Amino acid sequence: MSVSTPTDTACGAATIAVARSLADLREWVAGRRAAGMRIGLVPTMGALHEGHLSLVELAAVDDHAVVMSIFVNPTQFGPSEDFDAYPRDEAHDFALAQASGVGCVFAPPAEVMYPDGFSTTVSVSGPSRGFEGAARPSHFDGVATVVAKLLLAVRPHRAVFGAKDAQQLAVIRRLVLDLHLDDLDLIEAPTIREDDGLAMSSRNRYLTEDDRRAARGLSRGLFAAMALADRGETSSVALIAAARHEMESEPRCEIEYVALVDAESFQPIAQLTSRSARLCTAARVGPARLIDNVPLRATAH
Ligand code: AMP
Repeated sequence: MSVSTPTDTACGAATIAVARSLADLREWVAGRRAAGMRIGLVPTMGALHEGHLSLVELAAVDDHAVVMSIFVNPTQFGPSEDFDAYPRDEAHDFALAQASGVGCVFAPPAEVMYPDGFSTTVSVSGPSRGFEGAARPSHFDGVATVVAKLLLAVRPHRAVFGAKDAQQLAVIRRLVLDLHLDDLDLIEAPTIREDDGLAMSSRNRYLTEDDRRAARGLSRGLFAAMALADRGETSSVALIAAARHEMESEPRCEIEYVALVDAESFQPIAQLTSRSARLCTAARVGPARLIDNVPLRATAH
């Protein structure tokens, strides 16, 4: 196992372990368990921002030792998607991870996760259907497979995922239920946003200044619908129309979908109820495909 020193990362006082193989990862985890610690896992694809670091904070609560995986997972990208262009900056990521309290970064080469002959796919139906699943046909198989592999390798006490990727969260919740990972505490982290409302995302790096301004349309639309729901509106038609109206005021923001769905099943709903729902959107802005969502629930009036 390679262990980087504070001078390697020029940041923070603690050291951070960097595991490149499953054996190194398991050794680090076993050491922490032997010391009586519980383990928190934060899966990421790197290009870290404050959203990722907020997940680390939640993973570390009550003195969990935190493993962060940094792996741009090829199986969750379609053939014409941005796998090659996806931002990668290990040195910067390791420094941020260390400063935020990560104990071990698991940054394997692709052949460690997918050795020759790899033939197993974890496929979650139900909440993977529609929306991101429709736009990116093999995406959730790739996500579910890599997350299952990470959960099995680390066997964490808790794993933290962002509400920013609401459909992914629904898929992982289903996976954890269906694979009977009953002792896992699955934690949902709220979406961290820039000051102007744009949800933080590694893909925001693709945006030019003009794109960046137009990208505010997504959150403005979602917040407009949220305000309407706060005033008592429950109809999906009205909520979606309010979001679209605001988004359409940004001509560079090409809407793919705006949908009101049940937060667990990810099935469209016609009306807000007391069950937790999400208003979700995807849009192209310049070279980037952005997604965002807000939680909604009927308010008592
Ligand atoms: P990614 O590196 O984009 O695959 O994201 C890794 C984890 O960070 C996922 O659980 C995401 O949902 C979460 N995440 C990404 N962006 C944000 C954000 N702005 N706020 C909170 N969590 C986020």
